[in-house]
Amino acid sequence: MYFAQLPRVALATLPTTLQPADRLSAALGGQVRVWIKRDDNTGLALGGNKARKLEFLVGEALEKGCDTLITTGGPQSNHCRMTAAAAAKAGMHCHLVFSGPVVELRQANLLLDELLGAKLHFPGALDVEATSREMSRLAESLHASGYKSHIIPLGGSDTTGALGYVNAVREMLMQAEDANVQFDAIFHASGSGGTQAGILAGLALHHMSTPVFGISVSRPSAVFAPQVERLTSQLMQRLGLESAPQVAVDDSFVGGGYGIPTVESDEALQLAAKTEGLIIDPVYTAKAMAGLIAAVRAGRFAPGGNILFWHTGGSPALFADKSHWEGKSI
Ligand SMILES: *Cc1c(COP(=O)(O)O)cnc(C)c1O
Repeated sequence: MYFAQLPRVALATLPTTLQPADRLSAALGGQVRVWIKRDDNTGLALGGNKARKLEFLVGEALEKGCDTLITTGGPQSNHCRMTAAAAAKAGMHCHLVFSGPVVELRQANLLLDELLGAKLHFPGALDVEATSREMSRLAESLHASGYKSHIIPLGGSDTTGALGYVNAVREMLMQAEDANVQFDAIFHASGSGGTQAGILAGLALHHMSTPVFGISVSRPSAVFAPQVERLTSQLMQRLGLESAPQVAVDDSFVGGGYGIPTVESDEALQLAAKTEGLIIDPVYTAKAMAGLIAAVRAGRFAPGGNILFWHTGGSPALFADKSHWEGKSI
């Protein structure tokens, strides 16, 4: 399969930069060098990893002749915000079906969803299957009014969305070669699994076996790892690749649950900001960075090693819960 032949819409500012984070590395003891792949700077409506997925997802929708995108997420979903932006840019309509109770407060991602022209739906506190049914029902009723919808799953994590990260690996490997560096490990936040599946398949495509540590931001590994494995093997099949790569999901940084900061994620967020001027987010990337920090401090990597932190974005979430920082010494 050739990427140039896949339907794709240009939405992201690519390539994103690959940067060494030497002051952060020094703060972690200076034994290993941490690098950052800046997918927070993909450019589409404040950036993040979903821009890469949406290039292929919107390409597929337009090829099918659709004029409307429907997707789902929590009220502060970065994926929903970026899908709304992608729809605006592609001249499509966008409907967002939120799981969870009605949120009245227009702030952070939810405010941006509306500014980007999306229609918001709050059918109630539903699980993933019920939300899916709700999206199908909405697609049918829109069809009756003459619209043709494309349903994008949670997080844009099907094999089409994950192609964005297969492609991203090629971009990263070219930059690594230019910088004359080989990574000993890759850390990133894993939520719906598409990013991790894409990175794993992308590495396999280039005959690389760099360990990838998906730091879970919500689900336990026992539930989530098999899901990432399934998506990865579907994707590998689509790419005509044989062997199934090892899937490592670490759930030890989830803490109290999705979107609930931990002592470690708060520390990671402040350390990245104060050493690198780098903004990470409380829901995803701060937990992934906490995972990287713990592994480096535990001496998991040989001195002189190079570790890649794949920054997946999410900064608008910082402004969704400012009360978290009230009364704390920063
Ligand atoms: C969606 C998201 C992730 C997780 O990516 P998945 O492909 O869903 O695993 C990580 N970081 C941020 C900021 C996100 O919005």
